[in-house]
Amino acid sequence: MRPEILYPLFAPATVLPGVGPRIGKLIEKLAGPHVADLLWHLPAGIVDRRYAPSVATAEAGRVATLTVVVDAHLPPATPRLPYRVRCRDQTGFMELVYFHVQADYLKRLLPVGETRVVSGRLDRFQGVLQMAHPDHVVAAAQAEALKRVEPVYPLTAGLTPRVLLKAIRAALASAPELAEWIDAPLLTREGWPRWRAALEAAHMPRGEDDLSPAASPRRRLAYDELLANQLAVALVRARQRRLPGRRIAGDGRLRERVIAALPFELTSSQKTALHEIDADMAAETRMLRLLQGDVGSGKTVVACLAMLNAIEAGCQAALMAPTEILARQHFATIAPLAEAAGVTAAILTGREKGKAREEVLTGLADGRIALIVGTHALFQEDVALHDLGLAVIDEQHRFGVHQRLMLAAKGKATDVLVMTATPIPRTLLMTAYGDLDASRLTEKPPGRLPIDTRAVPVERIDEVTGAVRRAVATGAKVYWVCPLVEESEAVDLAAAEARHADLARVFEPRVGLVHGRMRGADRDRVMAGFSGSDLDVLVATTVIEVGVDVPDATVMVIEHAERFGLSQLHQLRGRIGRGSRPSTCILLYQGPLTEAAKARIGVLRETDDGFRIAEEDLRLRGGGELLGTRQSGLPEFRLASLVDHADLLQIARDDARLVVERDPELVTTRGEALRVLLYLFERDAAVRTARSG
Ligand code: ADP
Ligand code: MG
Repeated sequence: MRPEILYPLFAPATVLPGVGPRIGKLIEKLAGPHVADLLWHLPAGIVDRRYAPSVATAEAGRVATLTVVVDAHLPPATPRLPYRVRCRDQTGFMELVYFHVQADYLKRLLPVGETRVVSGRLDRFQGVLQMAHPDHVVAAAQAEALKRVEPVYPLTAGLTPRVLLKAIRAALASAPELAEWIDAPLLTREGWPRWRAALEAAHMPRGEDDLSPAASPRRRLAYDELLANQLAVALVRARQRRLPGRRIAGDGRLRERVIAALPFELTSSQKTALHEIDADMAAETRMLRLLQGDVGSGKTVVACLAMLNAIEAGCQAALMAPTEILARQHFATIAPLAEAAGVTAAILTGREKGKAREEVLTGLADGRIALIVGTHALFQEDVALHDLGLAVIDEQHRFGVHQRLMLAAKGKATDVLVMTATPIPRTLLMTAYGDLDASRLTEKPPGRLPIDTRAVPVERIDEVTGAVRRAVATGAKVYWVCPLVEESEAVDLAAAEARHADLARVFEPRVGLVHGRMRGADRDRVMAGFSGSDLDVLVATTVIEVGVDVPDATVMVIEHAERFGLSQLHQLRGRIGRGSRPSTCILLYQGPLTEAAKARIGVLRETDDGFRIAEEDLRLRGGGELLGTRQSGLPEFRLASLVDHADLLQIARDDARLVVERDPELVTTRGEALRVLLYLFERDAAVRTARSG
């Protein structure tokens, strides 16, 4: 249960003054539904109102706060002209300028003869100092409150700065003092303020410097968020480690036969990965290892050899792919290898029905089938395995490992290997899993040719089509990728269909279309046509698992390349360059390119190393537009930036590890405070983990 002290922060934002249902919705859209969400909504800029000159010395172009006496109202001669209010101080005259404002209102706001403090941007018009629509007009008594630095918050349409500021101030006022959860020596060393003071300071910047991620209050808040994350992850991992595992150690007899049958040598990263996997499987604890490597880096072979290790030890092994197509493709690779080893292998997907399915189910239940490849269908209730020793989960380029890992933790004492083609940077991995064991395939199998990557503005699409036609004439196969804009699959589909129709005019009938809304069988048919000899060009939306291995595909055109993230582009591009012929990737873009888009394309042209690209991606995106993280299953941060606060992540990891060692149930004084921290960042599940021990 959430600690009582946090109740006010988890009330809906509508409890705050000035926040009704309508504003509440806007705030929810902008920051989140709770009062606490407003606390995490930090200023992105400032307005400095401390400049308080006299009229005579005031500089135009600056934000200033002036104390003046209202001299005269000058209504406009025609409604199109502004309403002016002349003011003065001892040094001269100036004008306040209003467009489309009721005269009555202005007369009440600015009575002639009264003193007013006005604040806003100054201009000079025909030699007269002016302030158009002052941000503030107050009586002299409030002057001091005005002459300060004002935070500027990110907004959303319909929400005014004033309303938001008021709500945030109220949210701050409702924030309680909380017991300190940061280790005292760290707090002293960093010189950080207490939590509540840090929040207030972060929301009341005194200058540009206070907006920097390096500012002390911001660093403290970032650390809080990272610590909550790392502690939550560490608690879950600690629980996993306590789960019973089993030793699985094969004798190498099956594996040797397969290695002898392979037409190539394993790369040294493949060998290293296998050693790491073997060691984990042989250990008493339950394996939970990530196998990372670009598409085509040879993960499937590694997975297959790991599965043989389990089978040698008398267990069954399963490989689960995210889609039907990928399951079939894996099976096509693995089946001959299994046969070489004399191992019975089978496939199970949603499409195996009736008698065929029954047979597989029986074989799995009695253990006759030692190696099974499939989709989610493998996890259905009626699927019983005799003795599953190793589960390999292929995430391909989706990255939803999180839930699955948690699932696996609940299961039997099965070792789990997750394969991913997403070269997730270590820092990100750490936020998702703490010290998850990861093996990385960093080398490509020998003989791969570099891909020639070019950026071409969309205006030159006809030239591109011409080049594609020439390439096709020489026997090339071409992927044509249309972008996916998540909001509307229908619109995306329309765009892909239109492109297909265009290209069909040039290539008919040898151009196919695949998209996410197709039925499995139809999709497979088109894919088969492309990997066979019926189709030269394949138009695809990105939802499609272009994951299918078509080694003679040597050209890829990516439309609206500027909309894709760096890693995404890299993943897509990985579908070509897999055969012995040189490949070309054309990034069609809609200009003008933003600096970030330029940088992305630059990196892509420069390197093909997925791990480097992933690091660059993280660096380029910074804490900002974390495109696609929501779907990726990776945690998102509101206060911490994995780029700017990478050092804090390390500290938080070490600290969390110590806490879990010394106080795994969070019962000491600091443990109690940490519990509040976990709830504050909505890591409630982790608290339950701690409690259940
Ligand atoms: P991934 O699963 O990582 O996308 P695959 O395992 O499908 O990659 O391997 C891609 C291709 O490279 C396959 O055709 C595979 O047979 C081949 N391959 C794998 N390892 C090697 C190697 N060490 N040397 C040469 N070719 C390899
Ligand atoms: Mg083990």
